[in-house]
Amino acid sequence: MLEHDVIIVGGGLAGCRAALEIVRTDPSLNVALVAKTHPIRSHSVAAQGGMAATLKNVDAEDSWEAHAFDTVKGSDYLADQDAVAILTREAPDVVIDLEHMGVLFSRLPDGRVAQRAFGGHSHNRTCYAADKTGHAILHELVNNLRRCGVRIYDEWYVMQLILEDAQAKGVVMYHLLDGQIEVVRAKAVMFATGGYGRVYNTTSNDYASTGDGLAMSALAGVPLEDMEFVQFHPTGLYPVGVLISEAVRGEGAYLINSEGDRFMANYAPSRMELAPRDITSRAIALEISAGRGIHPDGSAGGPFVYLDLRHMGREKIMNRVPFAWEEAHRLLSIDAVNQPMPVRPTVHYSMGGIPVNTSGQVRSGTDTLVDAFFAAGEAACVSVHGANRLGSNSLLECIVFGRKTGASIAQFVQNRKLPDLDEQSYLLEAHCKIQALLEQSGQYRINQVREAFQDCMTKYCGVFRTEELMREGLTKLQEILSQSQDIYLDDKGKLWNTEVIEAMELRSLIIVGQIILTSALNRQESRGAHFREDYQERDDSNFLKHTMAYYSPAGIDLQYKPVTITMFEPKERKY
Ligand SMILES: Cc1cc2nc3c(=O)[nH]c(=O)nc-3n(C[C@H](O)[C@H](O)[C@H](O)COP(=O)(O)OP(=O)(O)OC[C@H]3O[C@@H](n4cnc5c(N)ncnc54)[C@H](O)[C@@H]3O)c2cc1C
Repeated sequence: MLEHDVIIVGGGLAGCRAALEIVRTDPSLNVALVAKTHPIRSHSVAAQGGMAATLKNVDAEDSWEAHAFDTVKGSDYLADQDAVAILTREAPDVVIDLEHMGVLFSRLPDGRVAQRAFGGHSHNRTCYAADKTGHAILHELVNNLRRCGVRIYDEWYVMQLILEDAQAKGVVMYHLLDGQIEVVRAKAVMFATGGYGRVYNTTSNDYASTGDGLAMSALAGVPLEDMEFVQFHPTGLYPVGVLISEAVRGEGAYLINSEGDRFMANYAPSRMELAPRDITSRAIALEISAGRGIHPDGSAGGPFVYLDLRHMGREKIMNRVPFAWEEAHRLLSIDAVNQPMPVRPTVHYSMGGIPVNTSGQVRSGTDTLVDAFFAAGEAACVSVHGANRLGSNSLLECIVFGRKTGASIAQFVQNRKLPDLDEQSYLLEAHCKIQALLEQSGQYRINQVREAFQDCMTKYCGVFRTEELMREGLTKLQEILSQSQDIYLDDKGKLWNTEVIEAMELRSLIIVGQIILTSALNRQESRGAHFREDYQERDDSNFLKHTMAYYSPAGIDLQYKPVTITMFEPKERKY
């Protein structure tokens, strides 16, 4: 059996930043990090626009309190304000720390870190490395990990969380290279497994964003918090769904409908294109359904609107948002200097996740914790984003709470012994599971079931939701679930069998989908990204609370947890 003081699952910004903090705090600790991709291929590498922090380099009037207010207002008052205070107060410090590690942020002419405008932020506070910010940060963190001796298991798929008697004890993992299975035990386990964009058919997320960590936690009896809040980013490139960063609007691009109007004037007159994402995505969806979308031949009534950069000029486009230009050029042969880009909303971010306190310890209920289990990043819900995340607050969350969680793990493992567990029974169970998958002679191919599932979630639990739609969706999901148990694999081998991974990911996706739909059905109000056509208003008297969903194959039990309000009383949210 493999043994480490700490095992971290996830090589994105949250996992890497936590690992680094643990070895910085106590270099004698034996820390391992597992990722099903290579760490530098984690979705964090694709983050474009930047990371918010009140450095006040561009806007001297800015303050952490203003950042906290924008975040809470953006969250439609569902964020926990104690966590938001930590996020925004520690932001400048973590950016400077990254800079000292070697991250090359873009600069102002006087040499200080540059800051740009972003949706829902009242001041120019987003620090960036052109529009490749995630790339710049993740590469530097991974280099630092290697220097500090963190053991990296790349292309190992974690298939089970070992949780016994309310204590996390380790994980079971499968090596993509040769099908080897290992049990790892550790004094502390951390999940930083990222989001679940692949639950939907059009997403900006990478293929690995399948919600494995959420599903494994749910299967082990851990609740998932606020799963109904799925962020749709307004500007996915049509038809592929690839992200065109909000930085493009931050630098001045317009959204235009088939009549040539900047329609955001009708939805958020004071913020225009820089309204928060939930509002902008709904505006685009409404324009399209009202017949003011555009067809590929330029005529009205089509499935997208235009993102227009032309007035910005070649020099600004190439300096500030070169990657957005490249993406449109590479994928659609569009030269954004002279042509507008076709865009529509795309699934982008998971506000909910594994519930944690501000030290990164996983909650088993409102007042109870799972021993030795930690989580951070997009997989976790410390609830700094509530019902809607502001752009450039997620990289920040990964770094602030990755660091905090790392520090608390380093403390936690002092004087703890490795847990006892029965390695053989876990190995046997895992071998049987893989063998059964390989031998199964079902009638469906994995991608057939996955596509049916993604279409189902997109149709029945998308930007606009109703009770009737979601009930129909839940019935459809039952059918898809039984199909998912009746699949067959073409590849029966041990070497580099990606189908085995896809089969396990399909299980994760469906569990996550069931939890999203059930949580959404029971929230009879509209708040942030969760919009109910049958309950269009926010309802603070009944729903100013977090959903806690407990999964079991027999059904999902929903409980609720109060929101922490310390600074800002809920008000109407207008822009
Ligand atoms: C295109 C795009 C652009 C974005 N731009 C911005 C931006 O400009 N600013 C901002 O603040 N946010 C942005 N975001 C959001 C932000 O990038 C993510 O929320 C954040 O990077 C998530 O980091 P993470 O460490 O939580 O997870 P990820 O970076 O997603 O990493 C997850 C890790 O978990 C591993 N993993 C998952 N399941 C398993 C398993 N079963 N076994 C082993 N390993 C597993 C993966 O291999 C990976 O290493 C963007 C997101 C996208 C998709």
